[in-house]
Amino acid sequence: MMGPSHALSGAAVWLAGSWALDQFADYHQTPLAVAVGTAVCAGGALFPDLDLSGKVTRNQGGATVARTFGVFSLFLAEVMEKISLGVYYATKLSKDPKRNNGHRTLTHTIPFTVLVGWGTTALCAAYGKWAVVGILFFMIGLALRGLFDRWAERAGWVIVTLASAGAAWYTFANLPGDRGYPMIGLAVGVGCFVHILGDMITRAGVPILWPIPIKRRMWMMIGLPNKIALRTGSKAEVVVLRAAMTAVAVLAAVGLVAPSVLRKFNIDI
Ligand SMILES: [Zn+2]
Repeated sequence: MMGPSHALSGAAVWLAGSWALDQFADYHQTPLAVAVGTAVCAGGALFPDLDLSGKVTRNQGGATVARTFGVFSLFLAEVMEKISLGVYYATKLSKDPKRNNGHRTLTHTIPFTVLVGWGTTALCAAYGKWAVVGILFFMIGLALRGLFDRWAERAGWVIVTLASAGAAWYTFANLPGDRGYPMIGLAVGVGCFVHILGDMITRAGVPILWPIPIKRRMWMMIGLPNKIALRTGSKAEVVVLRAAMTAVAVLAAVGLVAPSVLRKFNIDI
């Protein structure tokens, strides 16, 4: 799947989940909390592809998401890719093939998802608002890059960086400070998980079972069979899948916001 589809799926899942909690579990969030969770989940849904690096010294290549903050994120992607490759070789069994890059390995596993979600929560608990503002800055940048890819491409990474810094600062100024922020960790974790599911419906698949060894393989790639797998960039992805996810996101957002708007105008439902 391409960047925009990943980001969109993250946003749709978070909005739909927030709507379901609101409707059936009486769990209500402020519009700002919903917006923050949605942006962070969309960014989280791109995070695993930060393992696709390019040529840092020449400022070329890499996943779209690796170019969010220019050469800085490209460098981070290089580090993530090398760590992933290191973990691959450290845990590989005899039937796992040789690899020369770490893309779609460590960052596309369940333990990584849990670690990132837990790590984010721990950072927010330990450093409070300052951790929140840093994480928001990073995740909103990824989300902008993914959701508005054409705009981001034209605007360039400096504008994207400034826009995410502005959004993070606004949130910082408006969030209450005297509490933990478990929802942010959850949003990052859910985003990563949605990314893995998105890659699973493509042909290449993901090592979703790691670290469970199967037939002398630790890194078994699990994906859909060729016949029904989603081809990256195909009409099914770019038109059908994105339209469906946009519809889910919009309906959930309307469902969340409409009651309070109606209440404001004293309309009972
Ligand atoms: Zn991926």
